[in-house]
Amino acid sequence: ADSVWSVEDSLNELTALAHTAGAEVVGTLRQRLAHPDVATYLGKGRLQDLIDLERQLDCELIIFDDELSPTQQRNLEKALNARVIDRTALILDIFAQHARTREGILQVELAQMEYRLPRLSGQDVEFTRQAGGSRGASGGVGGAIGVRGPGETKLEIDRRRIRSRISELKEEIEDVRRQRSIHRRQREAQAMPVIAVVGYTNAGKSTLFNALTSANVLAENMLFATLDPVTRNITLPNHQEILVTDTVGFIQKLPTKLIAAFRATLEEVVEADILLEVVDISHENAIEQNETVNEILEELEAADKPRVTALNKVDLVDDPDDIDTSLYPNAVPVSALKKRGLDNLMETMARVIAEDMVEIDVIIP
Ligand code: GDP
Repeated sequence: ADSVWSVEDSLNELTALAHTAGAEVVGTLRQRLAHPDVATYLGKGRLQDLIDLERQLDCELIIFDDELSPTQQRNLEKALNARVIDRTALILDIFAQHARTREGILQVELAQMEYRLPRLSGQDVEFTRQAGGSRGASGGVGGAIGVRGPGETKLEIDRRRIRSRISELKEEIEDVRRQRSIHRRQREAQAMPVIAVVGYTNAGKSTLFNALTSANVLAENMLFATLDPVTRNITLPNHQEILVTDTVGFIQKLPTKLIAAFRATLEEVVEADILLEVVDISHENAIEQNETVNEILEELEAADKPRVTALNKVDLVDDPDDIDTSLYPNAVPVSALKKRGLDNLMETMARVIAEDMVEIDVIIP
């Protein structure tokens, strides 16, 4: 709607996401509609175009860049000869591939279950009744004794299973979260400033985190390599010790519900003293990506925290002097990959931390 992203850029990103998930993109189709059709998302003409394109390309999967309602998804699958998913399902799939810690794995499964629940399409066969009745000669009618009657439909059984899994997952996540808050209190007791690395997906957060901490966090040229926070200790040039924590990558059109599902991961951002935002300054959508990061930080009520901006991937920029650093707070051009500008970045972090501490002294006498 009022997004800063153009349709073209958003679709390009969707293509990159599909690639990350392991799909080969064979074609794209766009529609300009003020209001998507309630039943099929696409208007009649565009739906026919899609049906024709699908026949011509013989593709297995169609991904919509917007969220589809369960009804739209079902109707589209009926009309098409391919599986239909939306951006949210694709992102969840990538999350599932990249989750590494126990907490991340649990959170992804919870989000997937919650996504699936309203989308279960039941033939609504009366499962338990059929189980007995169709057994015929081998089992006889006797096999059905006790399970005949109105019974539960397959759909009801599936729903019940998913609901009980959802409550199991919630309990497990609650346990992990309790564990985390204990760790966080221990860290607070050490009185070390905590810096959370935030930024758009693929901006180079893991690479910078590695370069700063020499930790071995997986970095891939894929969207969402980072899903779980990892915290490491580093010493700044002024001998100040700080804790740096890597966080999940942000992305546009991440539904608020999904953000909520990753709340525990994002708590690191909310609890941090200072944010280190990584911007891929070589990306043609650097400004839109930064806008999305700011929107999500605002939703988390973390946008006002002191911030240092690492303008990353300067090695890919033709003329680094052209970079407008005034657009970003405390901006430092760096190359995490080539380890350039890191001293300058650490000095800036030390300065902002010192300023932040002065401020805290003033507020709390
Ligand atoms: P994250 O999703 O923000 O954690 O991003 P990653 O750290 O996984 O990096 C995404 C991709 O960008 C990887 O292929 C990195 O090698 C690459 N990358 C990161 N920093 C730099 C840099 O300074 N210069 C260049 N050229 N590539 C970089």
